[in-house]
Amino acid sequence: MSDMRDELRTMFAGLTGHDADGIWSAPGRVNLIGEHTDYSGGFVLPFAIDRRALLALGLRDDGVLRVASTFSDEVFELPVAELCAAQADGRLGGWSAYPLGVAWALGEFGADLDAVPGVDLLIDSNVPVGAGLSSSAAIESAVAIALDEVWRLGLSRQTLALVGQRAENDVVGAPTGIMDQSASLLSRPDAAVFLDCLSLESEIVPLGFADAGLAVLVIDTGVMHAHSTGGYRERRESCEAGAAALGVAMLREVGVDELDRARRILDDVTFRRVRHVVTENQRVLDTVKLLRSEGPAAIGELLDASHRSLRDDFEVSVPELDLAVDTAIGNGAIGARMTGGGFGGSAIALVPVDTVSRVQVAVDGAFAEHGFGAPETFVVRPSDGAHREP
Ligand code: ADP
Ligand code: MG
Repeated sequence: MSDMRDELRTMFAGLTGHDADGIWSAPGRVNLIGEHTDYSGGFVLPFAIDRRALLALGLRDDGVLRVASTFSDEVFELPVAELCAAQADGRLGGWSAYPLGVAWALGEFGADLDAVPGVDLLIDSNVPVGAGLSSSAAIESAVAIALDEVWRLGLSRQTLALVGQRAENDVVGAPTGIMDQSASLLSRPDAAVFLDCLSLESEIVPLGFADAGLAVLVIDTGVMHAHSTGGYRERRESCEAGAAALGVAMLREVGVDELDRARRILDDVTFRRVRHVVTENQRVLDTVKLLRSEGPAAIGELLDASHRSLRDDFEVSVPELDLAVDTAIGNGAIGARMTGGGFGGSAIALVPVDTVSRVQVAVDGAFAEHGFGAPETFVVRPSDGAHREP
């Protein structure tokens, strides 16, 4: 991280002709459990990973917002005061929709965009893109805490998560929930964020993986997903339709004991979508309870059950994710599941530390045997949320 920081500082000075006023960073995340529950007001249990977006920021005196990224040659630039007009005529596009979208959304949450100073922003990130590890929330959250500080807004972390979500929903056009930004902004080292997506209350739940001799292995299938299209939106609509048919505002209000009634009322597909969400909420509660009472070695079966539910009821898995999960479990993982929105992206496996290599080799072999592209596998550690870098 300190190498990345130094490089970013040097690059920032080269690009702008002056030193950065500060560096901020925000992590990607893995969702331990609680998938496709956030937009139904349910429970999630993500943690920040040791892969981060880094942001160098320098104030300008001409009111212009300029944003560049090591990820692309494009540089976007417009006066801060024009953000609202630019958003209204759909001018905020491509990757700049994330950082510029956050700047715009801060205006929606009270920043006076006619008065705040302009800034140069330079982004770098080692969160893999489109892998289900939320490279998008990492960028949004880094930009959100940095602008909150230099624009002297004093917004809470919870509010900044809503800012990131607003950018993603209204500017990027992806109807995603509040989980990713919350994980990136609220996480603490070696712990998960237990978030109630209805009240937005959150608790830090210690994970204790290392003490239990366990590691979390990410298996990035390399299958790219895009949440602004197709399946994600459809699933969300199914959940809304199911809730309406059951006479509740959000599926969060439906308990496991009401599934029999749901089966009688709903068509088969909507019922299975609903059953996933309802049982997944229960699995999050059970996971938190087990983490607190018995530790992480006890949660394997809940991870497996979550994957089966996402595969069979919610139907957001893909063959590569299923193979990753099955191979990990077959080679010593104590639990595994797809993580993130699905349709590609990554799986996670909870693996005894001394078995990590065996699982990695087995997954590589299984993918090759099936003619799938080579996956990337790497261990992630539960890490701190967004912060200003020293
Ligand atoms: P995920 O969040 O799962 O990685 P998304 O599709 O939600 O996938 O977000 C990926 C998008 O975020 C990229 O297509 C790009 O627009 C933006 N992005 C990610 N990393 C960077 C980066 N380092 N610089 C600029 N934009 C980035
Ligand atoms: Mg994303």
